[in-house]
Amino acid sequence: MTKTQPPEAIDAILAAGQRVFGENRVQEAQARWAGRRAAVADLELRLIGPLQTNKVPDALALFDVIETLDRPRLAEALAIAAGKAGKTPRVLVQVNTGAEPQKAGVLPEEADALIALARSLGLTVEGLMCIPPVDDAPDHHFVLLGDIARRNGLDVLSMGMSGDYETAIRLGATHVRVGWALFGERNTPQTASID
Ligand SMILES: *Cc1c(COP(=O)(O)O)cnc(C)c1O
Repeated sequence: MTKTQPPEAIDAILAAGQRVFGENRVQEAQARWAGRRAAVADLELRLIGPLQTNKVPDALALFDVIETLDRPRLAEALAIAAGKAGKTPRVLVQVNTGAEPQKAGVLPEEADALIALARSLGLTVEGLMCIPPVDDAPDHHFVLLGDIARRNGLDVLSMGMSGDYETAIRLGATHVRVGWALFGERNTPQTASID
């Protein structure tokens, strides 16, 4: 995850050979990656933050994979934009495994229907993504995501961040989204607590 990282950090990790990157905001990602995209042929950019329907065309133009499909309206907007752009988006469905009201993601019991809708609209659904609640052990969220994937014939599981990626891998993650464990402490104010 390269969100908030300065150019030096990006160039260093590119030089080290990393090619798959996640960003959580469309505009910031454009600023960080539009130029580098041309220079690095095998780059893969993945959107891991919420997507508003009015940003769909920009997101489709920049990202290879949208990990945050979470509602029917967005599936429809992606399908329309894909038709115009002549490009079939690769998507993951984000599942709100903790049913947190403030968090993006389709509710677990509505995931099968959204996956079916996305497929019927011609989107390439590759898998599922989740962000477990911060105040809960992540294990059963990862297991739940794996169960939903299995019953829908999906192979890709984007789950696990710096604090819990080992647990996620043990429970079947194919993609972990690691920020501070690679780049060092977040660019947050000095008052942030250190754990
Ligand atoms: C920032 C972010 C991450 C990475 O978090 P770290 O704790 O820095 O590893 C993972 N997933 C999403 C959706 C994020 O926004």
